[in-house]
Amino acid sequence: MRNLIVGAGISGLVLAERLANELQEEVLIIDRRDHIGGNLYDYEDEGILVHKYGAHIFHTDSNRVWEYLNSFCRFYPYMHEVKAFVNGYFVPVPFNLTSLSMLFPKRLSKKLEKQLLRLYDYESKVSILELSKVQELKFLSDFIYQNIFYHYTLKQWQCEPDELDPSVMARVPVCVGKDNRYFKDKFQGIPFGGYTSMCEKMIQNSLIEVRLNQDFKDISTEGYDRIFYSGGIDEYFDYCYGELPYRSLEFDIRKIQNEYFQVNSVVNYPNNYDFTRIIEYKYFLDQKTPHSIVGFEYPRKYKKGMERFYPIPNNKNKKLYERYLQEASRFKNIYFIGRLGEYQYYDIDKAILKILELFDIIKARA
Ligand SMILES: Cc1cc2nc3c(=O)[nH]c(=O)nc-3n(C[C@H](O)[C@H](O)[C@H](O)COP(=O)(O)OP(=O)(O)OC[C@H]3O[C@@H](n4cnc5c(N)ncnc54)[C@H](O)[C@@H]3O)c2cc1C
Repeated sequence: MRNLIVGAGISGLVLAERLANELQEEVLIIDRRDHIGGNLYDYEDEGILVHKYGAHIFHTDSNRVWEYLNSFCRFYPYMHEVKAFVNGYFVPVPFNLTSLSMLFPKRLSKKLEKQLLRLYDYESKVSILELSKVQELKFLSDFIYQNIFYHYTLKQWQCEPDELDPSVMARVPVCVGKDNRYFKDKFQGIPFGGYTSMCEKMIQNSLIEVRLNQDFKDISTEGYDRIFYSGGIDEYFDYCYGELPYRSLEFDIRKIQNEYFQVNSVVNYPNNYDFTRIIEYKYFLDQKTPHSIVGFEYPRKYKKGMERFYPIPNNKNKKLYERYLQEASRFKNIYFIGRLGEYQYYDIDKAILKILELFDIIKARA
C-alpha cells in the first residue's frame, strides 16, 4: 500500500510511523513549511530551545500515549506553572488559594478562603459560573471574571466571551487548594533534546520519505491508495462553502542580555499591554545560559495566508465545518485528520490518541 500524508505535524508523523513500522507500508509525507513537527517545531538558538509556534508543554493521563512517545525519547520532568500579572502581582493561574492570599487584604482573603473550604473539598476545582451562584462568593467570581478572564478573552478572541461557546465560560476554574501546577495530568514534561528531535526519531524508517516546501496543490495524488490530509478542510475543497474562521498569533521573539527576564516560563497579561503573554523558553528544559530568549505573543485576526492557530468554537462555525465533512464523505480513502482537518483544538496527547485509534481501524482492515 502507498500512502500520502499531507502535513508533517504530530498527527501526520504518528500515522507515518505506525504505517511504516507496524504495517511496513510506504509513506510520502509532504509539508509546505521548511521543517517537520508542525506547530510543535522547536529550534536551538545559542543553547536555548525556542518553541517557534508558542509554548508547548506535553501533558497526558493516557498510559498509551505516554508509553508510545517514550519509545522515541525521554521527558524532562517539567511541571508547568503560569503566572498572571494582576494588580501589580504575579499570581498563579488557574486562580487558587495562593492567588487569593496575594491579591486581597489578609482578613478578606481568609474570609473568602473559609467560605470556599466550607462549600468545596480541598484541592477541588470549581467554575466561576458555579461560584457566581453562591451569594457570599459572587464578589470573588466577578473579580476573577473581570481581572483574569474578561480582558484576556477580549484580547485573545476579539469578541465578547458570550459570543463563544458557553462551555468556555463554564470551564474558567478556581482551584480550592495551593497546587500551582497548570496541568494536573499524571504524565507531564518536555522531551530532552526538544520536540523536533523527538519527531525526527519517529520517522527513521527507509519506507518513509519526507518532502518539505511542498504544497498539496502542487503534487499529483495518482498512485496513492490512501491520502491523509492534516491541512485545512476548507482549503482542500477550495473554500466552496466559505472560509472556516480561526484566530492567529504573532510572536515577537527577542534576545535578552540578562540571565533571566521574568519569574516564570509563561506570564499572562490579562489587563495590561496588547500582548497576551510572554514566554521565556529556557525554563522548559532548565537551560543555563548567560542570556535569555523571550517571545511576546500577540493575538491576530486570521486572514488567508497567515498561520491558523485556534479554531473559533461556536455553532455557526461548527455547522460550516459539518458541511465540509458532508462533502468529504463522498470520497473514499481520503481521511481528514489533525487539528486543521477536524477543525478542532487538540492538545498534543489528544491529537496522538486520535491517530493511534484511527490506525487501529486501518490495521484491522489491512
Ligand atoms: C499557541 C498554541 C499553543 C499550544 N500549546 C500546547 C501545549 O502546551 N500542550 C499541548 O498538548 N498542546 C498544545 N497546543 C496544541 C498542539 O499545537 C496541537 O495538538 C498539534 O499541533 C496538533 O498537530 P497536527 O499535526 O494536528 O497539526 P499541525 O501541527 O498544525 O500540523 C499540520 C501541518 O500541515 C501542514 N499543511 C497544512 N496544509 C498543507 C498543505 N496544503 N500542503 C502541505 N502541508 C500543509 C502545515 O504546514 C503543518 O505543518 C497548542 C496549540 C497552539 C496553537
